[in-house]
Amino acid sequence: MLTAHPRRPRGAPTLCAALLALATALLPGATAATATPAPQAAPPAAADHPDENWNPPAEYATGLDEVWRHMEETYPDLLGFPNYGWDHIMANGGTLQYCVRWESTTPVTAELRDQIHATLDQQVNRWIEALDGFDGFPYARVPVTVVGWAAADRSTLRWDDDAVDLHIGDLDAAGAPRCAPECDRFHHQDGDYSQCPGGEARHFDQSLWLTDGFGGGAGGDWGQRMGSEYLIDALGQEDITILLHEIGHTLGLDDFYDWTPTGVDSFLMRAGSAQRITDFDAWMARDFWRHLKPRYQL
Ligand SMILES: [Zn+2]
Repeated sequence: MLTAHPRRPRGAPTLCAALLALATALLPGATAATATPAPQAAPPAAADHPDENWNPPAEYATGLDEVWRHMEETYPDLLGFPNYGWDHIMANGGTLQYCVRWESTTPVTAELRDQIHATLDQQVNRWIEALDGFDGFPYARVPVTVVGWAAADRSTLRWDDDAVDLHIGDLDAAGAPRCAPECDRFHHQDGDYSQCPGGEARHFDQSLWLTDGFGGGAGGDWGQRMGSEYLIDALGQEDITILLHEIGHTLGLDDFYDWTPTGVDSFLMRAGSAQRITDFDAWMARDFWRHLKPRYQL
């Protein structure tokens, strides 16, 4: 259930399995990776290490340990992968920057553009709320800035102001509009945005990729993808399930298509079983944070 850019380490799970074939076809160079069986004599898992700040509710403790071990066994480089959503937030000092890929001929007004921005900020912060105050996570809120929009034709974007950078007619190998790779963290994990017009201030960490007629969703270190109609129809909702689920992938969380942790059966990352971030999802995110935290030398 992984895809990876050919020059990047495989790390974050990037796709919901139901869409793997389609997304693989649309993402040149993406490959479906099969989980590597765990060695019989695995070294002690990080989950074994005592941690005075780790005190999940008793009913989740076993399941959370299982989740972490499963990721250790199936991710190619769980703690070495350098481009989780956490890394984006920490590199920016508590913000996220997005570019929207509008793969649709449906016109977008300035009002709709701004609604999508506000919604993205709100949904990202659903996850941040789950982290607020936990084990040194330093941000109570992570403001989202949309720095750019990509579309095939300028006429689709019905605004005249210069609120965002425009990327018009720059198509990927599969014909989908894309934002400038020179400004994309995915391609510049060293933080060198010298080739990006506007430099680092106008870089983006993630893409919100909205595709006409796309069913389900996909998410990874590059951002999140879903149907443009789905998102527009969901704009007024408190919890936008697919977007939240895919942001969970950007934060490194896994899918649960073929197993279920002990003691839980309904949670966001188990697709179809919950509509919003549950306590168990929140604890999975906290577990991820506490394992990554040492890399930030807080
Ligand atoms: Zn998924």
